[in-house]
This record gives sequence, structure tokens and C-alpha cells, in this order.
Amino acid sequence: MFDKVLVANRGEIAVRVMAACEELGIGTVAVYSDADRDAGHVEYADEAYNVGPAPASESYLDQETIVDVADRAGADAIHPGYGFLAENADFARRVEATDGITWVGPPSDAMETLGEKTNARTVMQAADVPVVPGTTEPVADADEVRTLGEEYGYPIAIKAEGGGGGRGMKIVRSEAEVDDALESARREGEAYFDNDSVYVEKYLESPKHIEVQVLADRHGNVRHLGERDCSLQRRHQKVIEEAPSPALDDDLRDEIGEAARQGVREAGYTNAGTVEFLVEDGEFYFMEVNTRIQVEHTVTEEVTGIDIVRWQLRVAAGEELAFDQADVEIDGHAVEYRINAENPAADFAPTPGKLTTYRPPASIGVRLDHAVAQGDEIGGDYDSMIGKLIVSGDDRDHCLERSKRALEHFAVDGVHTTIPFHRLLLDDETFVTGDHTTTYLDRELDDDA
Ligand code: ADP
Repeated sequence: MFDKVLVANRGEIAVRVMAACEELGIGTVAVYSDADRDAGHVEYADEAYNVGPAPASESYLDQETIVDVADRAGADAIHPGYGFLAENADFARRVEATDGITWVGPPSDAMETLGEKTNARTVMQAADVPVVPGTTEPVADADEVRTLGEEYGYPIAIKAEGGGGGRGMKIVRSEAEVDDALESARREGEAYFDNDSVYVEKYLESPKHIEVQVLADRHGNVRHLGERDCSLQRRHQKVIEEAPSPALDDDLRDEIGEAARQGVREAGYTNAGTVEFLVEDGEFYFMEVNTRIQVEHTVTEEVTGIDIVRWQLRVAAGEELAFDQADVEIDGHAVEYRINAENPAADFAPTPGKLTTYRPPASIGVRLDHAVAQGDEIGGDYDSMIGKLIVSGDDRDHCLERSKRALEHFAVDGVHTTIPFHRLLLDDETFVTGDHTTTYLDRELDDDA
């Protein structure tokens, strides 16, 4: 096992990774920007190093400095968390090439193969996994898009090759919209992901977003830990995630899980990953693979009892997965609420500020992944997440009842938060019955879908 792990991240996920390290007897190294001198993850770590000014591009994304710090600190592994450098195959390759330092993540080659969405689609097709009808090559021009529009039937989605979180994705409802949509998808792809390649998919009007957590070791074992349902989205960004999905029956659950396993096996994947699908009318379609630990991994941990981050470290250290597929059991229900410093009444605009009151809920069924305390400043330099509230119960109804109690006793002053919004959702019949699809919230809020 490793002696010392550098966590190339901040906030709750940095602390989550360090907690796993601590339990394995591994020392922890934090990195921080000028804006994060007093941040929770710095406090938590055994040692911490400044890696530059507040802008992420000059600190948390500075590959060279981060590898240098790992070297200087005597760390023998780097865990990237999510976001920042987590899905950067070049960074993974750089770490792999550094003597004495192990990358806690999938092999850079597998990251590259699956990171390009059109490549990933090709791999999945080779593994007999159904994919959303669409192209396996980037499209050349608007004429090609129009031809595809005729072939699949409108609506279609033009998606940035490097996209994610709905960024770089444009929905096209008719031929007349193709030119503008193509241009803005390319523009967003370039701006956010430094890649203006785009491809085309059939756009499903009202699907469920179902994703499967996988774990794979270097000895050929691939397991899936069941699914998460992330259908509650606002403008294609996840708002609430839960496990298991209220929309799957056992047969479909097994089928999707096995498809995910097949797919990552085909890609030569190891470590933790997520295979995302859209599900509509009992059919499932592969969408993409996320080659990192995800924000919402927590709900899977709660219902399986499997510590995914701990396994990331163990697998990276060369250990074999110590459980069979048949050993994975889903017990109870868990929901994750993203607690963001945003104002739901003002189009969810971020509201940076000081947490003058911060009193999170406690007691049975409540897990809190956060890295803040009362008096802390939620800055405007990074994402607006304060923390994640994860509530577990015997079944979905029980879990939602508990969630009401937990959210009612979550006191935050000084910034607006998403807490009141979550509380409203718990009274929303469509959510409570589990009938919501990915476009439900936008229709309710009358937003741009
Ligand atoms: P990510 O899952 O990494 O956020 P995307 O930007 O590809 O990446 O997708 C975000 C969301 O957009 C999905 O969860 C889903 O709700 C929606 N979406 C993506 N592709 C399609 C599609 N072809 N049809 C319908 N909805 C889609």
C-alpha cells in the first residue's frame, strides 16, 4: 500500500479521499491555491503545499507544479478527485511516467479512448452495448448534420466531443436550427474543453439518466455496484441523485449492469468509473463513460456498503477486488442533495459569502460530505458547492421522510442555498412518485430545456 498520497483537489472530495487514506494508514498531502489557505482540506491533511494563485488554471490545473510537489513531499501516489485534472489523460500519462509515483485512476490509454465520446461509442458498440443512435465520427459541416437529422428524425442533439454537464450540447428541433446550433456547440466546445469537434445523436425527449458504478482491478476482475438515478436535472446538470433507481426492475437492472461491465472490459479499464445511459420506454442506450470518481458516488456507497474511494486506492496499489459480483447487494435507499451556495429564486445564481451560521443536521441516516465550518467564506473562484447531504433509509419512502427532517434541520445563514429548493421537491408529487425524467424540472421551472 502507498505511504503518502497527494490529493490534487480541494473541498469535500479532497477530504473524502484523505479520509479513505487515513483509514488505510496512508499519509496525506494537500495542495492549495492562494484563495484556499484556510480551507477545510488544508486543515485536514497531514501536510499542505501552496501551488499558486486563485485561478484554477494557475494552481489546481498546474500539472508541473503538482507533480513537483508530490515529488518534494515524497508522495508515492496522486489522487485527482473529480473535476480539475481528473479526466485529463495527459496528466495521467505524466504521472504514470514519473518514477515512484502512481496514478490513482484508470490507465491513461483507457481514459483517452473513453474520454473522446465518439471513440467511447465505438468501443461500446464493439462490446454489443446499445448506444444512442448517432455518429461514431465527428461531423464535418451543417449539410452532414441536416442529412443526419433526416435519418434519425428531429429532435437531434449536436454535442461537443469533449463536453459534459450539458455544456457544448445543443438541441435541434428542425432543419432551420442546424446552422446556429452547430456554431454554438463548436463555440462552447472550444471555450470549455479546448476542442471544437462535435458529433450528432438522436435527442431523446424524456429519458431517465441511469448510470452504473463500476470497479475494475488489474487482474481482470470487473464488478458493477448497481445504478444511480440522476434524472432530476436542471439544464442538464444533476440536482439530486439516488440509488437504486425507482424506474428499473430487476431484469433491466441486471442487463444494464452487465452491459456496463462488458463495455469497460472491452476498453481495458481499471479503477473506478461510471457508465452513463439514457433509459426510455424500457430500452437503454449508452451515453458516455466518466473515468473518475463522481460527485454522487456516495449514494452507491450507502446502499452497497462498499467504500469506492478505498477501493480506488487498493486497486491502484495492485490489489485484487475481494468480492464477486454475486456479493454485491443493494440494501435500502439513499439520496444525495447538492447543497450549493446559489439562489434558487434568482435563477440559481451563485451567492458567494460568509457562512455566518452553519449547522448541518445529524443523527440516524444522515451523512454529510463537506469541508466547511461556520465562519468560512464561500468564495467565487471555484464551484458553488458547500457540501453534499446524503440521506439513507430502509426504502425510498422512508428515505424521503428522513430527508425532510434532515433538510429542515440544516441551518445556513450568510449565503443563499439550494436547501429550500430541495425541501420543495420533497413535496412534489412527480419526484415523490419517482416518475420524473431529465426534462421534468426544466419544464416545471419553465426554463430552456
Ligand atoms: P454529462 O453526463 O457528463 O453531464 P452530457 O453533457 O453528455 O454529459 O449530458 C448531460 C445531460 O444531457 C444528460 O444527463 C442527459 O440528461 C442529457 N442528454 C445528453 N445526451 C442526450 C440525448 N441524446 N438525448 C437526451 N438527453 C441527452
